[in-house]
Amino acid sequence: MSGTRGTAAVVTVGSELTTGLRLDTNTQEICAALTLHGYMVIETVSVADDTERLSLAIERLTSANDLVIVTGGLGPTHDDITREATSRALGLGLAEDPAIRAQLETIAARHADPEAALQVFVQAQVLHGARVISPTTGTAPGQVIETDTCVLALLPGPPHEMRPMLADVLGTATGPQAHVIRCAGISESDAQVTALRVLAAHPGIDLTVLASPWLVDVVLPPAGADESALLQAGDEVADALGEWCFARDASTTLAGATVSALRERSLTVAGAESCTGGMIAAAFTDVAGA
Ligand code: AMP
Ligand code: MG
Repeated sequence: MSGTRGTAAVVTVGSELTTGLRLDTNTQEICAALTLHGYMVIETVSVADDTERLSLAIERLTSANDLVIVTGGLGPTHDDITREATSRALGLGLAEDPAIRAQLETIAARHADPEAALQVFVQAQVLHGARVISPTTGTAPGQVIETDTCVLALLPGPPHEMRPMLADVLGTATGPQAHVIRCAGISESDAQVTALRVLAAHPGIDLTVLASPWLVDVVLPPAGADESALLQAGDEVADALGEWCFARDASTTLAGATVSALRERSLTVAGAESCTGGMIAAAFTDVAGA
């Protein structure tokens, strides 16, 4: 099964990620954007700064997906190996782009050590046939390579540099969105069994159940289904879950839904808290206008 725009994979590169020195936020951000834009993300991988391992990951993922996004390892330092690993994976040569080199001259001039100044120019190395995305912040350009079956985008690691380039790669078209049915007071397994019974009549619609303290989110991911089929299935699942369901979107909290219900009925709420030490009052007062 695939999303409306096909399958995608995300690769984050950097030993700072695989050793836990930095938190990989790009994977979550990119996966959310890909899903919004109609791709079905089926694999995410983090790879250390290891040219051979990264090359193998890129080779494997580009032969199995419509889109692969790689972030990190495009900077100027010794551990920035993404260009070289991609060159090996796809058998594409690397050559210096004179226009990018010219843009990097002022950045190189800021370095005190001539060796540091010189290595700035490694960022001008472009894969054969790649489309270059100029940086709006930072120094490393992004590169987009189209093989016969896959689009591969190499984007910088820093999230603020990655973000505008990802928007460039994805464009404005969006796909069907996940339907979220928020429930409280029901167990994860009860919600799952109820939803699956309904979905038996909706082939091709997947189910994910996400439990957290006090909440169960019943999610119908957009993979492979069109918007109207998802909407119909979502309505039927919400009906079957009945009074356990308090919201049809992931942003409504239980306190928010309670405040709305009270307001509709012109009711107020009073509480006496001991063990919760004011947590219930805090949850209510967190709701704007409560
Ligand atoms: P790089 O492009 O590999 O030189 O990464 C430069 C910096 O970007 C790293 O030191 C991190 O602070 C940040 N960075 C790289 N990859 C990620 C990621 N997946 N999520 C969040 N930050 C990242
Ligand atoms: Mg790195």
